[in-house]
Amino acid sequence: MAVGLDKIQPEKITEKEHLVVEGMDISGHWNRMFEPRVLTDYTIDNLEKVAALPGGESLMWCYGCAKCTAVCPVDIVGDYSPRKIHRRTQSGADLFSSPDLWLCTTCMNCLRVCPKEVNMIQIMPAVREQAVLEGNVPPELQKAFEDTAKHGNPLGQPQRKRADWIKKAGAAVPIMKDLKRPVDILWYVGSYPSYHPRGIDAASAAARIFNALGIDFGVLGIEEKDDGDSQRLAGEKGLFEMLAEENIATFGKYEFNRMVVTGPHEFNAFKNEYPKLGADFKVLHYTRFLVEHLDKLKPRLKKPINPSAGSGRSLKVTFHDPCYLGRHNGEYDAPRELLRAIPGIELVEMGRCRENGYCCGGGGGGMWLDSHTKDHTTMRLSERRVREAAEYGADVLAVCCPFEVSRFEDAAKSTGNDKLMVRDILELLDESMKG
Ligand code: SF4
Ligand code: SF4
Repeated sequence: MAVGLDKIQPEKITEKEHLVVEGMDISGHWNRMFEPRVLTDYTIDNLEKVAALPGGESLMWCYGCAKCTAVCPVDIVGDYSPRKIHRRTQSGADLFSSPDLWLCTTCMNCLRVCPKEVNMIQIMPAVREQAVLEGNVPPELQKAFEDTAKHGNPLGQPQRKRADWIKKAGAAVPIMKDLKRPVDILWYVGSYPSYHPRGIDAASAAARIFNALGIDFGVLGIEEKDDGDSQRLAGEKGLFEMLAEENIATFGKYEFNRMVVTGPHEFNAFKNEYPKLGADFKVLHYTRFLVEHLDKLKPRLKKPINPSAGSGRSLKVTFHDPCYLGRHNGEYDAPRELLRAIPGIELVEMGRCRENGYCCGGGGGGMWLDSHTKDHTTMRLSERRVREAAEYGADVLAVCCPFEVSRFEDAAKSTGNDKLMVRDILELLDESMKG
């Protein structure tokens, strides 16, 4: 049955059984079109249910201009956008139990262009929170929630192993508890850089870079827990608040001037969400922090990174803007400044970049919803992005979000673009420093 047809109220449909106009017989349903369209053919109860939630109000404001449909990354691989969500809900569909509820990655591209400020970054978490309370959550996401609650990270790895990566980092990584003194920089490593093999590669590269630059830094080691922001956006606000309170208490135990984070999601959490819960510290994403040190970093970037040594050809690198660094927090230049500082690299921009950057599919809980997304779209967003990078002739897809390396590497394999290398900017800098 088409969306909402079960909500049609027949008594509200005007239809004359016998009608002849200027000799033409338009009896029955043929004369319906001569009547003003009755929007209340449908109940709007479900739209009102969304709008009644704190944060859900703006879904009501949509006036159907469709600007959002043109930029929504999910619509490119499926049938989706705030306009479509508004119309379906207005026509009677129940967003609370619809697969649509879990497709939005909160990438913010729609809000950027929406004249009515329909805010999916507030609507989606609000509706998802209700769905979570009712136990209506895709199993893979539920598992990530449970792993986070139990182990302090969504990968389900033991908390006591959170600092194990340090042993093989190839550089000193002081732990605050052992250091017993104030530091200039508290480095919040993050869950994926602590546990995921490709995240560990980036974390180890960061450790070597920080040491080479003589940064006075420390990490929290096994005291660190996931920031929880993506879980919040996926509807687990309670879990987010619990993690935030624990992390804020841990941060408060130590003296530091500024915090540097590896990932854009943590950056967003600490910059925009934790202060609402009482946190008060200055935080930087690693790209901005390293740009501050570019005068010391640049002379160390000696080794040109070429596809084949001696070929003289530049390495074509394209950069994927993370939604939570770019659109959400306005940082587009620092990653590019770092890439341009590396010898042997030619930076090429993809069509969808900067403010209109395409989403990797990992935000807003998408990191843990790949199977669900796959079932309701033609391809994963990461696969669409990898194809775009390959279409632009890139040798390397450069990233600066720990969610992205594994997502894009998997997507490169599944789309047959195995030659495309996916590298964190930290890895590229580290490699160039080895010259
Ligand atoms: S851009 Fe805003 S107002 Fe226009 S259709 Fe999309 S949600 Fe509605
Ligand atoms: S936030 Fe992004 S994924 Fe969600 S509806 Fe808007 S454009 Fe689409």
